[in-house]
Amino acid sequence: MPPLLSLLTRSATGQNISTYFNMISGPRKADEKDGPTEVHLVLLDNGRTQAYADEQLRKTLQCIRCGACMNHCPVYTRIGGHAYGTTYPGPIGKIISPHMLGLEATKTMATASSLCGACGEVCPVKIPIPDLLMRLREESFSAPHANPTMVGQGAGYSALMTSVWKGWAAVYRSPALYGVVTWLGSRFSWLMPSKQGPWTSVRVPLKPAPKRLRDMLKERH
Ligand code: SF4
Repeated sequence: MPPLLSLLTRSATGQNISTYFNMISGPRKADEKDGPTEVHLVLLDNGRTQAYADEQLRKTLQCIRCGACMNHCPVYTRIGGHAYGTTYPGPIGKIISPHMLGLEATKTMATASSLCGACGEVCPVKIPIPDLLMRLREESFSAPHANPTMVGQGAGYSALMTSVWKGWAAVYRSPALYGVVTWLGSRFSWLMPSKQGPWTSVRVPLKPAPKRLRDMLKERH
């Protein structure tokens, strides 16, 4: 316990000791003058059993709530806590909330990450947060199956999106195919729709550049 207490404050605000600390002891003994006569400890599961049952997801429960991951997250430090809509925001919120609330309500949380890895690097108890974010993305967006590890597994699954990403992966794996697709994209960029879902409600439509980077480099040399 003392090492964790020291880690908590130093990772949170840099203090040497915490401003308060609760220690729950048992009922007072016959020869003790102080303390409760009875102690009732109520443990709320809140999805923790689900996290504990899986070897990888179990690491989420190591969290000591220091907040270091939040303070170093480039996403959280810009958008703030309320944008997450959950009690726990930031990197730790993204990996613990899916257990507490189910993936139906939190399926997109793990995608609000650039996977820069800052959270995993600063976490004093070495929770592999980026790996867990990848795992939760997989749980949310893979096809629903009969024996899910998590409540709401496959909540974000879409056969169309899965095919689109498979196609994207195939293009990026093959330099030749990538060359053809980017060539077509640059020549036929005018075919891009002017309305692109929620993206264009606040932004200009995405359009491939008229000239590819590789063509510009060729021209230069
Ligand atoms: S995940 Fe790690 S860095 Fe984030 S609050 Fe928990 S212990 Fe601190």
